[in-house]
Amino acid sequence: MTSTFENKISSYFRLGIISGGQLGKMLAQHAAQWDIESFVLDMSANCPAAFVAKHQTGSPQNEDDVYHFGKTMDVVLLEMENVNLKALRKLEQEGVQVFPRPDTLEIIQDKWKQKEFLVQNGFPVAKGTEISNVKNGSDVEGMGISLPTVLKAKVGGYDGKGVQVIKQKDDEILLPEPLFAEEMVALDKELSVIVVRDIEGNVRCYDPVEMVFDDASNLLDYLVFPAEVSESVSQKAMSMAEDIISKLNHVGLLAIEFFVDGDDVIVNEMAPRPHNSGHQTIESAYTSQYEQLLRATLGAPLGNTKIKVPSILYNITGSATSLGKVSYDAISDVMKMSNVNVHIYGKRQVKPFRKMGHLVLYGNQMSELKDQLKLIKTKLKINGK
Ligand code: ADP
Repeated sequence: MTSTFENKISSYFRLGIISGGQLGKMLAQHAAQWDIESFVLDMSANCPAAFVAKHQTGSPQNEDDVYHFGKTMDVVLLEMENVNLKALRKLEQEGVQVFPRPDTLEIIQDKWKQKEFLVQNGFPVAKGTEISNVKNGSDVEGMGISLPTVLKAKVGGYDGKGVQVIKQKDDEILLPEPLFAEEMVALDKELSVIVVRDIEGNVRCYDPVEMVFDDASNLLDYLVFPAEVSESVSQKAMSMAEDIISKLNHVGLLAIEFFVDGDDVIVNEMAPRPHNSGHQTIESAYTSQYEQLLRATLGAPLGNTKIKVPSILYNITGSATSLGKVSYDAISDVMKMSNVNVHIYGKRQVKPFRKMGHLVLYGNQMSELKDQLKLIKTKLKINGK
């Protein structure tokens, strides 16, 4: 098969997606828009992506499962980082196109390697030190690190699960090694920038998204697109994002999270795939992050990243106590609102803080959207039975 985009439409072209969560589902939905058939590798036949893609049972971490799945595909895309690297390398050597490329994924799978890459290429990051054999804050101090400090698991962490703030000597370390300690930086905002690069090296960038955290729980509350930051902060973050994706030689999407303190912008971490902070691009930008990933990797021209209308993205998640078969209250009340779109991922079981869906509220007055979200939060309830 020749590699033009046109030859992939309405053909026997096979797009493989690892794995089958909500990101995989939305990716497959966008592929279906062009009559491109998707296959998804996931342990569960009830995974969200199985609604729209052909499901194959297997573990993304298992070498044989990933290899045998990928071997029957033309292009393999990832919706998560924790995928067996050996299998992906073998597939690439045998002619299957894999994005992110295994060499790029190897750097990103390990937060310490990410930091080394960023430092070597002159990007600003919080200072870090590798540590080992530590049980408590006292051991950490013994390695010459002053408290408080932020400990991070090098691999496997997500949604704050691989991060622990150590404040005092007797704080017990709960994270698995290998670890590193990172200086606790002052920050007044956190941003995410989604940038895309195609096979020819063309780069396009979306405006920064602001991640707003709940003061009480410290968990992500909602996202604002575009971020309410100065033009100078926004430009700094976007130009760093464009530089980083090119220096990484990455093809596909890269979501880069930044810490902002006044006019200073430093890089926190990155993900080489569609990202939670980019769902709103479906309604709010001319080209969604999902379509953009397909364009970049399937040989189509990159799409317009401009904002059509500003928006707020709100994740519908389980509460601290939700558990069991999911039921949703007041979704149709929310759907009465003329400027809100509802996305439900298709997870039958709700668990504490599990992402079950999201809402996009759009309009030109951000303060009105924030008030509207407050009202929605009083109505919407996710229950477990
Ligand atoms: P994850 O990938 O699990 O989300 P992050 O590295 O993004 O982990 O950390 C989670 C949150 O912890 C960040 O969003 C930020 O609020 C806080 N955090 C992480 N690193 C630092 C740091 N060096 N200084 C201050 N806060 C931090």
